[in-house]
Amino acid sequence: MKRDTRLTRTGRSQARDGLVNPPVARGSTVLAGTAAELYNPPAGRTHYGRFGLSAQSALRDALCELSGADYCALTPSGLSSLVLPLLALAKNGGRVLAADCIYGPTRRFLDEGLTRYGVTVEYVDPRIGSGIAERLDDTVVAVLLESPGSLTFELQDIPAISKAAHGAGAVVLVDDTWSANWLMKPLDLGADIACQALTKYAGGHSDLLLGAALGRGEAADKLKWAETVYGWHASPDDCWLALRGLRTLGLRIERSGASGLDISRWLENRPEVGTVIHPALPSHPDHAIFKRDFSGSCGVFAFTLPGYDRKRSEAFLDTLELFGLGFSWGGYESLAIHCDPQLKRVASQRHDGALIRLAIGLEDPEDLIADLGKGFAATAG
Ligand SMILES: *Cc1c(COP(=O)(O)O)cnc(C)c1O
Repeated sequence: MKRDTRLTRTGRSQARDGLVNPPVARGSTVLAGTAAELYNPPAGRTHYGRFGLSAQSALRDALCELSGADYCALTPSGLSSLVLPLLALAKNGGRVLAADCIYGPTRRFLDEGLTRYGVTVEYVDPRIGSGIAERLDDTVVAVLLESPGSLTFELQDIPAISKAAHGAGAVVLVDDTWSANWLMKPLDLGADIACQALTKYAGGHSDLLLGAALGRGEAADKLKWAETVYGWHASPDDCWLALRGLRTLGLRIERSGASGLDISRWLENRPEVGTVIHPALPSHPDHAIFKRDFSGSCGVFAFTLPGYDRKRSEAFLDTLELFGLGFSWGGYESLAIHCDPQLKRVASQRHDGALIRLAIGLEDPEDLIADLGKGFAATAG
């Protein structure tokens, strides 16, 4: 079956009474039929709500099937889908190598959270590729990638980095929220764990927070262990909504990606714009990796406005009427932010002027272009 067909079939084993969606079971206690079953629930049943009921099982099944994973840990947010496996891998004296372009709150967890366990965190140039071998030895417990990176959109050579990391015995994690594990498949490219904010494209409607960490083989066992030992649990209502959103993921991401490319090309021809940073554009420095590893793009990208200081970029954003000003993305509605106040980079390059990120939703791109045009007109220098 082709993947669009699979998306409609997967995760339906929990459905009942002829319905095509699972019921939302809510519960902590799960009564056992006999005393012996308290400790040995029959196949397909759990003995306690924390391990997940109908909605969690259905979502796990769907995500595992679509990504080829053996296990999916569901976590209460996208951020926690990274925190959980990293906590599981942490050990005193261990090192974590992280791409310099990772999502700001993940970086904060590494710097302020993980280091408390005696782990050393080092940032590497996202374009390091197989050169990462020089930084690896048996003290490295994990290599954390995010491709493309938040705000600056560098792609990482996942196959080359995974090969080097595995040679040194390190586990490779990839935050693939941008591709929603739909446009790019980290596990097929050699990574051990793929983490995603389901909050974004899977949810698709800006009304839930949820994460998934997917792994195969030993990594899958580790995820299952960590989820149990640390006591993590995802809400059945949010899992149900995420599964519902997932059904239309293919359609929505395609439309959002196509509109994003239209708008990128328009921006490339605007005199105010320095660079449009979008992996699907031939001008992007990692475009060859994009063509090799991705089947398409979502609608999230950035552009620079040389000569725009913070005040002028805020005036540009304040003029926009269709773009909401807000964090997150992957919903049906377009969003814009200026990135410079939150950019933290130590091992990679900076840009000139202001960096603006757009998340394109499902509006007509012509209306969005007109809105951006108004922003430029109002802030012409
Ligand atoms: C949004 C995001 C997260 C965090 O997701 P939350 O659900 O908001 O915690 C993690 N990584 C990336 C790349 C993101 O864009």
